[in-house]
Amino acid sequence: MSVNAEKKPTDFIRTIIEQDLARNLNDGRVVTRFPPEPNGTLHIGHAKSICLNFGVALQYPNGRCHLRFDDTNPEKEEIAYVQSIQEDVRWLGFDWGTNLFYASDYFERLYELAEVLIQKGLAYVCSLTAEEMRDYRGTLTQPGRESPYRNRGVTENLEMFRAMRAGRYPDGAHTLRAKIDMSSPNINMRDPTLYRIRRAHHHQTGDRWCIYPTYDYTHCISDALEGITHSLCTLEFEDHRPLYDWILDQLQGELSCHPQQIEFSRLELEFTVMSKRMLTTLVTGHHVSGWDDPRLPTISGLRRRGYTPASIRNFCRLIGITKAPNYVEMALLENCLREDLELNAPRAMAVLDPLRVILDNLPEDHLEELVVANHPQNDALGTRKIPLTRELFIERDDFAEHPPKGFKRLVPGGEVRLRNAYVIRCQEVIRNPQTRAIEALRCLVDLETMNKAPEGRKVKGVIHWVSAQRHCKVQVRLYDRLFTIPQPADPKAGGSFLDHLNPDSLRILEDRPVEESLARAQPEQQVQFERLGYFCPDRRDSKPGQPVFNRSVSLRDSWKK
Ligand code: ATP
Ligand code: MG
Repeated sequence: MSVNAEKKPTDFIRTIIEQDLARNLNDGRVVTRFPPEPNGTLHIGHAKSICLNFGVALQYPNGRCHLRFDDTNPEKEEIAYVQSIQEDVRWLGFDWGTNLFYASDYFERLYELAEVLIQKGLAYVCSLTAEEMRDYRGTLTQPGRESPYRNRGVTENLEMFRAMRAGRYPDGAHTLRAKIDMSSPNINMRDPTLYRIRRAHHHQTGDRWCIYPTYDYTHCISDALEGITHSLCTLEFEDHRPLYDWILDQLQGELSCHPQQIEFSRLELEFTVMSKRMLTTLVTGHHVSGWDDPRLPTISGLRRRGYTPASIRNFCRLIGITKAPNYVEMALLENCLREDLELNAPRAMAVLDPLRVILDNLPEDHLEELVVANHPQNDALGTRKIPLTRELFIERDDFAEHPPKGFKRLVPGGEVRLRNAYVIRCQEVIRNPQTRAIEALRCLVDLETMNKAPEGRKVKGVIHWVSAQRHCKVQVRLYDRLFTIPQPADPKAGGSFLDHLNPDSLRILEDRPVEESLARAQPEQQVQFERLGYFCPDRRDSKPGQPVFNRSVSLRDSWKK
């Protein structure tokens, strides 16, 4: 389904926007932005923000959403992230059109506006060291103290700020600070830093600058320069809003609009971590195979795992937008994928733990091409041929010599239906003479039972199978949760979050028999392996004719035991 056709949600932010439109605030424009910092890849939490910002803009004829890189920290940023972020937003189904921006586009204007603040006596060059600055800042319970440099004159401030830009001081020697209120209960208002000296190469501006503006100073002005009407961000910025508004109020004469900042709660997902610092630790410490490891909650990881853009958008719609804590069960995300794939993914058969079955009453060279539907309800998915031969594989646990009560599959002397084919009866169990392990089953097939019940007998069980003589062999990767506890990042969990990694989060099965037709499966084409789950050829490791299958999700919520 396209983004446009999807049901539009309602939430408190959309209500505010409706009210603003009703009073013709912003001349009926709705302009939002998604402002990632290019210091990591995007995760499912960002998807929440992307769906909100782009989703809101799509709802209005005068709506638009900008993609803006908040690139004020050159040491931590990389051009590779700039690219992966664009790829992920596009893959999620959103389009920023020509509205791609970088905060660094505004470095010159930001500098000019800083001079305006200096001239108004609202900013000063401070020469405290970082450590002294921390000490002067005070704490939540103690007011801060004014910097001894706070009352530098405008001329000296201007001269020094220009010298900072010209590279006449070493890194960290001075900062430019806003002159607000050192006794404010809000620490963000205690003369926050606007500029720092840092000789760092920037991925967009190269070596042009040796001073860089801070996030708080840059963000509100970038919003205003772009004519953003609603600046939607997560709750940790609530305490920064007074500063956001202060800066824009002081520069009112210079800027043509004052965007409205509105906060909502961050998404947290159980059994995983979302902080960039922790994700980076997992990647650089080789606890996972990379940013797109299918066990990570990154967009690229979910994509590789087999998630569809529609399933992620639907998830974001279901979790909604509020200010309340947003701790969500993994099962909700998985269900969104099942819902999308149930009708849209073709079915096929694979056997992950093969047990050989010999159909004794068929000749050695028996080959019957069965034409089967690719989906029981969705005829548009067409049909395919599967070969029935004398020897087959079934799943080892679909046979039980000593069946537990209620076991409906194959037992010695019992019958079961092969999916899409005939009923078979187990005549004999063949064992390894030394180990006594079961090696194969001798069965009889009843060729009168295609699409109809055998006469006079009830056969309840249906099991999947693959021809042992005609199949292809593939690698299958089964994933489990990455962590063993729901909140590995919670300090109350004890130790480091790495202590809670699940050692069995990935199981690799080699050379598993699957239907021949699956040799042609293409990356990102999800398929349901009957009775085993939804699988998707890995977009990184699959080769033409040789797919590697990731299990995206099981068929049922197996975590609720
Ligand atoms: P950093 O620690 O680097 O600031 P971040 O997760 O805040 O990490 P940004 O690149 O700054 O990453 O985020 C871009 C946007 O995505 C921000 O507006 C932020 O509020 C939003 N965002 C980030 N994480 C989540 C989350 N878990 N849920 C909802 N929105 C999020
Ligand atoms: Mg951030």
